[in-house]
Amino acid sequence: MTMQSSLNQLISCQGDYDPDSLPVEQARKFIRQFLSPVSATETLPLKAARGRILASDVISPLNVPSHDNSAMDGFALHSRDINAGSLRIIGTAYAGRPFSATVKSGECVRIMTGAVMPKGTDTVIMQERTQIADGIMTMLEAPKPLANVRYAGEDLKVGQIVLQTGRKLRPADIGLVASLGIGEVLVYRKLKVAFFSTGDELVSIGKPLGEGQIYDSNRYTLYGMLESLGNVEIMDMGVVPDAPQALEDMLIQASSQADVILTSGGVSVGEADFMKQLLEKLGQVVFWKIAMKPGRPLAYGKVGEAHYFGLPGNPVSVMVTFYQFVRDALLYLMGQNPVPMLPLLKVRCVEPIRKLAGRTEFQRGILFADPSGTWQVRPTGNQGSGILRSMSEANCFIVLGDQVGNLPGGAEVEVQVMEGML
Ligand code: AMP
Ligand code: MG
Repeated sequence: MTMQSSLNQLISCQGDYDPDSLPVEQARKFIRQFLSPVSATETLPLKAARGRILASDVISPLNVPSHDNSAMDGFALHSRDINAGSLRIIGTAYAGRPFSATVKSGECVRIMTGAVMPKGTDTVIMQERTQIADGIMTMLEAPKPLANVRYAGEDLKVGQIVLQTGRKLRPADIGLVASLGIGEVLVYRKLKVAFFSTGDELVSIGKPLGEGQIYDSNRYTLYGMLESLGNVEIMDMGVVPDAPQALEDMLIQASSQADVILTSGGVSVGEADFMKQLLEKLGQVVFWKIAMKPGRPLAYGKVGEAHYFGLPGNPVSVMVTFYQFVRDALLYLMGQNPVPMLPLLKVRCVEPIRKLAGRTEFQRGILFADPSGTWQVRPTGNQGSGILRSMSEANCFIVLGDQVGNLPGGAEVEVQVMEGML
C-alpha cells in the first residue's frame, strides 16, 4: 500500500474530516505506523551511557543491599529485649566493619547507619532515644520490634529485571546499574539525523547579506533541539537554494547517510508543488495542512530508507513542528519504549488569550511563580510565526486544543515544557 493510499484510508475513516486541516493527533498517528526503531547496538561504559537507550534488560546479579543493615545510628538489640529498660553495650558495628560475635539477651551493640545487623539482633533503637552511662544503654522509650532495619534485597533482588529494554538511561538509572557492580551496558546506536535549509533568500553566517536576504537560523535551532533531545548523530548539510537539481542531489546524499532527513522551508502553498514533484520522484511523501498554529504546512514520508520531514520555513513553525511531530518520532526510532508522554500542566494564564476554535495552537508562554509561590503563565508578546524572539523569551508552550476559543484573563490553560526550554 502506498503512503498516499494509506493516508486516504485514514481519512475515509473520519466522517467529519477536512482534507485541508488534519488534526495534530491524526498526523502523529499516521506517522507512527511507518516507524521502526534502529536495531544496531553497542556496548558502552556506564558513564558514557547516560541519555542512551538500553538494548537489553539489566538483570540484578545480587541482592541490594546484600545484608540486613541499620537505617540509623543507634543500638542493635533483639526485639524480645525492647522492654528491658537497660542493656549492656558489648561492642560497635561500623558500616563496612561488622561486629562478629553473637548478641545475647540483655546485651546490645552500638551500630552505625549501613552497618550489618549483628547476629542475634533484629531491632535498632535510635541514638537520640537512649542514654549511655558506664557501658550501659538505657532506653528512654521502648522501640517498635524490628524498627530501623533495612533488609537484604529490599531495594533489588537477585534475578530481578532492574531496567527494561527501551529505557532511556537517566542519572538515577546509571547509579542503579552501578549499585549492582555492572560497569557496561548494551545500548542502541545513535540515530543519524541530517538536515538542511531550503530557500534562495538564505545566507549562512560569515557572509554579508544582500538585498532581501536573511541569515539562516533554522539550522541552528534544529541543531540545538536535536542536541537537547540527545542520542542523535547530527549531520548539518547546510543551505540549498530553491533549485530542483541541487535539492535532488542533497536529498539523495542525505538519504544514503541518515536515518532521518529534516528540511525547513519549501513546503508552504506555492512552493510545495515544486518539492512535491521532486519527492514523488525520489520516494513517497504526503503533504499536509495541519489544523494547528503555528506550523500549518508539513510533509512526511520516505526518501529511500530514510524518513523525511518537510518542516515549514518560518523560524517558530520549525520549532513547533519539530517538538510536536519530529521529537516523538525520533524518540520512537531511537528505540525508546514506551515513548513517555509529556506532562501537560494546568495553570492560570494572567492575560486574555485570542484563539480560533477548530485548530490546536501552541502559543509561547512564560511560566513564573507569583509572590505567593503559585505558578502562572503569561503569553510572550507577538505570536507571529516569524518572531523567533517569542520562542527565545518563552520557557513553555501554552497548548490550546481544538475546542478552545478566546479566553479571558485568569482562565486555566495547559502548558508544556520541552527539552531545552528551561
Ligand atoms: P517557506 O516555508 O520556505 O515559504 O518560508 C517561510 C518563511 O520562513 C519565509 O519568510 C522564509 O524567508 C523564512 N525562512 C525559511 N527558511 C528559513 C531559515 N532557514 N532561517 C530563517 N528563516 C527562514
Ligand atoms: Mg522558501
